[in-house]
Amino acid sequence: MIVDPASLYPMATLIDQLREELPGLRILTDSADTEAFRFDETAFLRAGRPLAVVFPSNTGEVQEIVRLAADAGVPIVARGAGTGLSGGAVAVDGALTVAFTKMDAILEIDTANLTATVQPGVINADLGKAAAEHGLFYPPDPASYETCTIGGNVAENSGGLRCVKYGVTRDWVAGLEVVLADGSVIRTGGKNKKDVAGYDLTGLFVGSEGTLGLVTEVTVRLLPLPPAKLTLIAFFATVHDAGEAVAGITAAGVVPVTLELMDAFTIAAVDDVHHLGLDRTAGAMLMVESDLGGAAAEAQLAAAEAACTAARATSVLRAADAQEADWLRQARREAHGSLEKMGAARMDDVSVPRSKVPEMLDAIARVAAERGMRVGVFGHAGDGNLHPTYILDRDDPTAEAQIDSVRDAIYRAALRLGGAITGEHGTGLAKKRWLELQRGARSVELMRAIKQTLDPAGLLNPGKVL
Ligand SMILES: Cc1cc2nc3c(=O)[nH]c(=O)nc-3n(C[C@H](O)[C@H](O)[C@H](O)COP(=O)(O)OP(=O)(O)OC[C@H]3O[C@@H](n4cnc5c(N)ncnc54)[C@H](O)[C@@H]3O)c2cc1C
Repeated sequence: MIVDPASLYPMATLIDQLREELPGLRILTDSADTEAFRFDETAFLRAGRPLAVVFPSNTGEVQEIVRLAADAGVPIVARGAGTGLSGGAVAVDGALTVAFTKMDAILEIDTANLTATVQPGVINADLGKAAAEHGLFYPPDPASYETCTIGGNVAENSGGLRCVKYGVTRDWVAGLEVVLADGSVIRTGGKNKKDVAGYDLTGLFVGSEGTLGLVTEVTVRLLPLPPAKLTLIAFFATVHDAGEAVAGITAAGVVPVTLELMDAFTIAAVDDVHHLGLDRTAGAMLMVESDLGGAAAEAQLAAAEAACTAARATSVLRAADAQEADWLRQARREAHGSLEKMGAARMDDVSVPRSKVPEMLDAIARVAAERGMRVGVFGHAGDGNLHPTYILDRDDPTAEAQIDSVRDAIYRAALRLGGAITGEHGTGLAKKRWLELQRGARSVELMRAIKQTLDPAGLLNPGKVL
């Protein structure tokens, strides 16, 4: 059933008020214009029809939008670049989608304090480039780093290809400016290296998926740029062996900057698209990188190689040069796109303690075989974070039902191993059915109490996460 958004909320009045109060605000109301803002990268989820999409350019405008929407009882969906993989930015019927893409200024790179302060619409890669111009480095780099925004990264607590060594977005956020559900604005944290006054509100808003407040400014920590990377590739006869190598590298105390895995299915898909001459007879491949530089990097890769050999690697080689390493990294980043050439590809996300990676890989293979589902596996194996990706026949009407049963079995397997239903993509709409299974009823009750305190009318991204 298509809901007429106008029947839900007094939107015409709200739009009139927005035009009157904020004459410079870009507002899209025509359904042909708003269509592109209904979905994120989870096209399979049912998206609502927004009454309007607005593009604020500063915090004051965001405050006014929130105040007017709250007075009208109109919900708000925050949106960055729409690359999310759990449905967080998917439109809600009759709601206002607030797109942060115009708030894309890098406000400051503070070389004295090793911080950067940015608006939420800044693209991750642009912050990386701006920091590099000062010899500095912003570590979190989701594979989507050339398109996703810092606001989206903060809201999802995103990971990426450098988390083994540097951690996730939360580890790099020093302070936030947040517009709350009543239109008031708060600042959490700042440039201090140490600050433990009161509760950690920065930590609360990071990962809150647009349900607790709208992030309008972000201060992140930076590091000096590390040396250029050295890259090692190892092939294995089975994905289990590659998993054992991951566990072995971790247990040996080796902390590379990147430790990524691709299974046979993904290797073939990536090689079809990128023609890298990968070993297509292999069951799996690991990519291990060190950014220690010089002899330390050589020693680190030698230790990683020893762990791969102990786990029966069939071949271990070094990237010939920086260019080849870049191609390999880029190919891994585009694994999902390559798998999409084989059918409708649905990327999932589970996480387990790193010693359990071999068992998790076995469990995914078992579930896929039992249910006859084509599943490609790749991911940030060094973090214990895997992306089983379901490949569907686009014309199969039973595909959706099959996926739900596969997903359920895979999440339960991850939880039995002490893992998580999502390592980095968030709960959004896609995982909320399983949240209580992992966190337990009491914890979810506590989350609801926090939501109730910060957003008593339930206007911020309703229906997401909880
Ligand atoms: C090919 C591909 C590869 C990917 N690789 C990775 C990866 O390696 N690691 C990883 O973690 N993720 C990855 N992702 C997922 C996605 O890119 C991240 O979740 C990213 O952080 C989303 O950013 P976005 O700007 O697109 O946010 P959106 O998708 O627009 O929004 C995501 C969430 O953030 C909220 N939000 C956005 N802006 C704000 C704001 N200013 N204030 C409050 N809430 C806000 C939205 O409401 C929503 O809940 C990948 C996605 C794709 C398509």
